Amino acid sequence: SSWWKSVEPAPTDPILGVTEAFLADPSPDKVNVGVGAYRDDNGKPVVLDCVREAERRIAGSSFMEYLPMGGSVKMVEETLKLAYGENSELIIDKRIAAVQSLSGTGACRLFADFQKRFHPDSQIYIPAPTWSNHHNIWRDADVPQRTYHYYHPETKGLDFAGLMDDIKNAPNGSFFLLHACAHNPTGVDPTEEQWKEISYQFKVKGHFPFFDMAYQGFASGDPEKDAKAIRIFLEDGHQIGISQSYAKNMGLYGQRVGCLSLLCEDEKQAVAVKSQLQQLARPMYSNPPLHGAAIVSTILGDADLKKLWLKEVKVMADRIIGMRTALKENLEKLGSPLSWEHITNQIGMFCYSGMTPEQVDRSTNEFHIYMTRNGRISMAGVTTGNVGYLANAIHEVTK
Ligand code: PLP
Repeated sequence: SSWWKSVEPAPTDPILGVTEAFLADPSPDKVNVGVGAYRDDNGKPVVLDCVREAERRIAGSSFMEYLPMGGSVKMVEETLKLAYGENSELIIDKRIAAVQSLSGTGACRLFADFQKRFHPDSQIYIPAPTWSNHHNIWRDADVPQRTYHYYHPETKGLDFAGLMDDIKNAPNGSFFLLHACAHNPTGVDPTEEQWKEISYQFKVKGHFPFFDMAYQGFASGDPEKDAKAIRIFLEDGHQIGISQSYAKNMGLYGQRVGCLSLLCEDEKQAVAVKSQLQQLARPMYSNPPLHGAAIVSTILGDADLKKLWLKEVKVMADRIIGMRTALKENLEKLGSPLSWEHITNQIGMFCYSGMTPEQVDRSTNEFHIYMTRNGRISMAGVTTGNVGYLANAIHEVTK
């Protein structure tokens, strides 16, 4: 009808489009290493045992009322402990304004809107490259974006000098988006020493660090280790912000459960900030959904279930780490003259392979292997069964 005459189809999402193309391919050989979701060694999606048990326990619950605007208090409390530390004084002193969010995406978006509302002239520094949705989120929140150096194409590692220069050259008091661990798409994280230098320089410049932590536990297998960047910044007295997500580390992708938190100067400020976050949420979705939050608080509120979760996160992380080694060894066995060290140096769900868009296209057209055109391989899609086939295809197109 004439109302929507001017509406053109939106461009396909670079990540979601890969899965669509994969599904449409009838080849029995096809491999999907585009998907950002964990698969077991048979290539099947996984529901964790701790989640099944939590669901059993909450089944038949007679509580279906609205959650408070800020979400499940219990879930938020447990979630803060994961990021800030089990016995964090900041939690005890009620210095953290935190609300349940619609997973990590919702937390980032709520923060971007909050940033716009209270610092309307600010911009956000985003790493180059980054998860493509970061650009959409801050764009739609109307916050201008700048990028900072992050990935070094020659070393396929961190461009630490470029990163430090950009931190120094940004106007004092700039907002920066940092990936807390398992950087997406590169799999490249700063070392502990580098994080310390970054934190120090942030202090000098008075920058605001906003951590997107979508993979806590998924990188090393230990959520405590994966929180080390955040803990360094806390140690240095930064007032940080964090987006947390249970999509990957609990496999709760479709439940959309996460948390946005902002560390404040004192309890009074935290109360004010939380009330403003809720004020932003109210006209958008009013209050967050109940079920995923109940799963998370049931797991983290029970010592045995939490232990089971920690074991299961480690199984997922270890499988991915194992597949990195297998992929690298297969490429070496095939006699590839290129260096594939970066496959095992990188961490988290993704391997930034260094393949060009043309090589990616060839791997899709000739070998039915699907990945984003930036050469990002989801290690979660690699299995004992397909790693040899994948290595061969990579070798053939990179010769
Ligand atoms: N941030 C990063 C870096 C991600 O990779 C993802 C998911 O792929 C997210 C945030 C958000 O995921 P979700 O909204 O499913 O929690």
